[in-house]
Amino acid sequence: MTHKRLLMVFAHPDDESFGMGGTIAKYIADGVEVYYVCATDGDRGTIPEAMQGQYPTIRELRLAELDCAAQTLGFKNVLLNYKDSGMMGSETTHDPDCLWYQWQHTPEDVTRRVVEAIREIQPQVIVTFNKYGGYGHPDHIAIQRATTEAFDLAGDKNYLQVSLPPYQPQKLYYTSLPARFLKLMLNIFRFQALVRRKPFDPRRVGTNNDIDFLAVIENIEPIHTLVDIRDYLEAWDAGSACHASQGGGGMTSRFPMWLRQRLMNKQGFTRVYPAPSAAKIDEHDLFAHVNAEPKRELAV
Ligand SMILES: [Zn+2]
Repeated sequence: MTHKRLLMVFAHPDDESFGMGGTIAKYIADGVEVYYVCATDGDRGTIPEAMQGQYPTIRELRLAELDCAAQTLGFKNVLLNYKDSGMMGSETTHDPDCLWYQWQHTPEDVTRRVVEAIREIQPQVIVTFNKYGGYGHPDHIAIQRATTEAFDLAGDKNYLQVSLPPYQPQKLYYTSLPARFLKLMLNIFRFQALVRRKPFDPRRVGTNNDIDFLAVIENIEPIHTLVDIRDYLEAWDAGSACHASQGGGGMTSRFPMWLRQRLMNKQGFTRVYPAPSAAKIDEHDLFAHVNAEPKRELAV
């Protein structure tokens, strides 16, 4: 029994597996308890026509996919049950039940929900998105900000909005993106457009032209922690495959395994707390220097 607990806080069913499925599998194999606070139900996700009608609602489909990933990889889910906001600027961001709307109008409530989860789960290590939410999705940005605030408030004995006893996690990370790989993809997109004689705007990519690929690259932050996941690429694919309605992690699994074993055998994280002394890799384990205490029993 290691008593190590890792908490991921992201926005949608799939962010966990697509974003860090290999790292989840590695830590589960190491005996770490891994939890996922999933802020929304993902009900604005686009569903392929062939999958429509399999479940009464998109929400149920997305949550069934999340359960599949949790069972496959071995993590535990905590749902905050906000509605998915859809992309920035879309009509759906005005839905009062969606996360972005809630974050705009009552951010303290969103933060309180995350504090509650932290005090209950008592993770030593927390991982969330970077400040740009990876690719600028409003739900990603909202939950990143709420988590960053909750990290400090969870341990603050004067924060009384949650009745559970204070608990201070020891480390806070952002998931990083592989800059080299994304630049390679940008060049592939440019080349494809050139061959097809089609215009290509790197600030408007993706199925709905709503991803600013240059901003994604510009917002990548330094990596301080590089985790070796070479033995867990297949487990990563299995977790991602559960989210079939969202492409099953197609972007990475489309590359041959031998190439991924070489180019994607490590996952990088940006350490926010404790603050790094320099913008360089100084550890290879999210739990380096962590004091792993057993979980305190909470009175129900
Ligand atoms: Zn997402």
